[in-house]
Amino acid sequence: METAPRTYEIRTYGCQMNVHDSERLSGLLESAGYVRAGDAEPDVVVFNTCAVRENADNRLYGNLGHLRPVKDGHPGMQIAVGGCLAQKDRDTIVKRAPWVDVVFGTHNIGSLPALLERARVQDEAQVEIEESLVTFPSTLPTRRESPYAAWVSISVGCNNTCTFCIVPSLRGKEKDRRPGEILAEAEALVAEGALEITLLGQNVNAYGSGFGALSAAPDDVRAMTAGGQSAFAGLLRACGGVEGLERVRFTSPHPKDFTDDVIAAMAETPNVMPSLHMPLQSGSDAVLRTMRRSYRQERYLGIIEKVRAAIPDAAITTDIIVGFPGETDADFEETLHVVREARFASAFTFQYSKRPGTPAATMDGQLPKEVVQERYERLIALQEEISWAENKRQLGRTLEVLVAEGEGRKDAATRRLSGRAPDNRLVHFAAPEEPVRPGDMVTVEVTYAAPHHLVADKPARAVRRTRAGDAWEARQAQGDGATGVSLGMPSVGRPARPAEPVSGCSTCP
Ligand code: SF4
Repeated sequence: METAPRTYEIRTYGCQMNVHDSERLSGLLESAGYVRAGDAEPDVVVFNTCAVRENADNRLYGNLGHLRPVKDGHPGMQIAVGGCLAQKDRDTIVKRAPWVDVVFGTHNIGSLPALLERARVQDEAQVEIEESLVTFPSTLPTRRESPYAAWVSISVGCNNTCTFCIVPSLRGKEKDRRPGEILAEAEALVAEGALEITLLGQNVNAYGSGFGALSAAPDDVRAMTAGGQSAFAGLLRACGGVEGLERVRFTSPHPKDFTDDVIAAMAETPNVMPSLHMPLQSGSDAVLRTMRRSYRQERYLGIIEKVRAAIPDAAITTDIIVGFPGETDADFEETLHVVREARFASAFTFQYSKRPGTPAATMDGQLPKEVVQERYERLIALQEEISWAENKRQLGRTLEVLVAEGEGRKDAATRRLSGRAPDNRLVHFAAPEEPVRPGDMVTVEVTYAAPHHLVADKPARAVRRTRAGDAWEARQAQGDGATGVSLGMPSVGRPARPAEPVSGCSTCP
């Protein structure tokens, strides 16, 4: 008698890295014969955890506690815990929650199916944490979430030591992926329908630093740095040569490593989109010093000025931490100054909170909550005003919007569709007469600006049906479970919209 395949569910916390890792975990499980759980209780629940939020561990153990009676009533159910908190807490997890079957870390996500099987056969919890990367994650099977856009990892880990960030201790030193592999993945994604990729790394501008001396570097690495350009600038330009790839984005750059040739590559490569997300964190030089971020206000604003000169339409966004230990009113005023000068299209703003295991957690000068709250509100009010004013400058502009799935919560009620402009602004637009699918392109005129989105309520100027729309339609016809899981070379998918960054860089877990 045939037995039904085991079902799984993945619960993801944290940043884009985790979102993308969860796509890989799904791909691994589906390659091993599991299927995504529908409404019924899954046979396997995987927690892909994040370590940076305060009380992250309490929340995990709370969730695990809720699952215990469920597991007791569901023979054969397994629970696995991976991600940054697992990397950090290791066997503490099975001590505090002995009903957990598998604990795996950030460096060995590829082991999950084998660990589940071993836990089942041996009837014993399996804890396996590696200290460094076993397989570059992009070589693992991946189940992408949707067909028009995809994350492409170019590096993992980080060589910086920002004092608020847990990445260096949990994700390790930066490891760069060979450019030939990155471009092959981009080509494979396009062949399957994708129009957009987002290059992903904790510090994309440092890309290439891990390849060692150029004289001994392989050909694909030397090609990226031809003419003395930085490897990341070369990679952007090389992405410009991928036929059928319409939109290239990246996250996150570090101001310290941001070179002029990257700005030139952005400006001169037509498919690199006019948007830049560059974490500021603080506008105060003194705070940047204690954060151990080695650029200063002047350098940050200098980069913005150059980007604006080279790419006048660029939408620039950022991350800011308010209330870092020792931040004075005068320091905070410096942050407001940079916000006024930079005119960010939007900003992810955070109230500093202690992240266990980071140097900042034990620094003197931790600020009272009320002080941080008051500064935070002032920052939000200023940024909202700027975001709205910047969005109003878009009124009357004609934009080509990549139609997205699930970006407009009120679309059904307003008879609109939603998508992203080239500069990544969210646009809600009147549904055209003809059918439009996620992945298609619609040209619209902006008629209204809100602080966090644009509206285009006039009839669409043009609708362009695309390969991505065809791929989306084909997937619908095949049912949800039919999305490609490919071995070695991931199939297409949509990156979830930038998960809210929860640490220093938008990609930090
Ligand atoms: S905040 Fe970003 S640059 Fe700093 S250590 Fe973390 S990942 Fe690296």
